[in-house]
Amino acid sequence: MLTLAGGVRIPYALWMRSRRLRAVLVGALVSWVTPAVAAQKVIIDTDPGVDDAIAILFAFRVPDLEILAFTTIFGNVETEMATVNALRLVEMSGQTIPVAEGAVKPLYMKKLPSADYVHGADGFGNVNLPPPAGSAVEESAAELIVDIVRANPGEVTLVVLGPMTNIALALALEPELPRLVKSVVPMGGVLQVMGNVSPVASANILNDPHAADLVLGADWDVTLVPGDTTRQVRIQDAFLTRVRDSGAPNGAFLHDMSLFYRDFYRSVGVTDGFYAHDPTAMAFVVDPSLFEVEERAIRVVTDGMAIGEVIAAAERHWSQPGPWHGIPKAKITTAVDSDRLLQLLETTLTKP
Ligand code: CA
Repeated sequence: MLTLAGGVRIPYALWMRSRRLRAVLVGALVSWVTPAVAAQKVIIDTDPGVDDAIAILFAFRVPDLEILAFTTIFGNVETEMATVNALRLVEMSGQTIPVAEGAVKPLYMKKLPSADYVHGADGFGNVNLPPPAGSAVEESAAELIVDIVRANPGEVTLVVLGPMTNIALALALEPELPRLVKSVVPMGGVLQVMGNVSPVASANILNDPHAADLVLGADWDVTLVPGDTTRQVRIQDAFLTRVRDSGAPNGAFLHDMSLFYRDFYRSVGVTDGFYAHDPTAMAFVVDPSLFEVEERAIRVVTDGMAIGEVIAAAERHWSQPGPWHGIPKAKITTAVDSDRLLQLLETTLTKP
């Protein structure tokens, strides 16, 4: 007779005879002693922003995603309001997550106006939430990024949902950053589709093209999720209604703040649901199998009429001296399974 943990007794002959029984019991033992899969650690750099907020509310509810910090940036709103909105989102989550305020202007350029006509004057579709109780930490966004990444070498993914100024500043602060982070996932840029702020530029890039060029050209595991991909993922009214009516936490807020954003897109002729830009980038972090990815050498135009244009070259071994020589490989998403992605978003946002 064999006595197992918990006092279960099995005849020895049966144990020896049944390979299946042994496999089941050994499997149960292994899962009992093996710790759960370690959570994926992220820092979310953000300019909330309606689509930022949807991405973040989604991220709060993803199992095995550990948000170590929020860092804030101008873009959809001014940096100060981005900080207030990040604090509001943290408080909605019921979690304790530090928020660090980031740069208030681009590295070199004059700052462009924020996009209140897209996201509302409060960044959340003019739902006018009460002010948050908490406040930002003392450290700057770049300082907090560097501190956290140093304390978690090789483990942290930077999810960059706004202009990339804070990430460029963190690179300047800690030249070893590329070796210390796990990966970087910025949202922005357009390749084949028209830009939303110029024929060739998207807002996240044009708001600080120098920063984008530094971040996308650094020698690290960076995957750009461009507008070509995010515009394939459209959130429709029925989705918003189902999220609200699910009764899940913050579902009504998600619904209500999105209406202003939806109406902006309708006003520019996008009537079949609004683009889920930032949720798509967040979904790449959660489930990269939803995407096709290609290696490219990526640079960003920093002046002239094509300022803010992302150039993603399939060839990356330019031997001639010049601006493309020695640019390390980066990655860019080239396709997405939008049905599966929307299903992932909805399932996560509506679970009790
Ligand atoms: Ca954003």
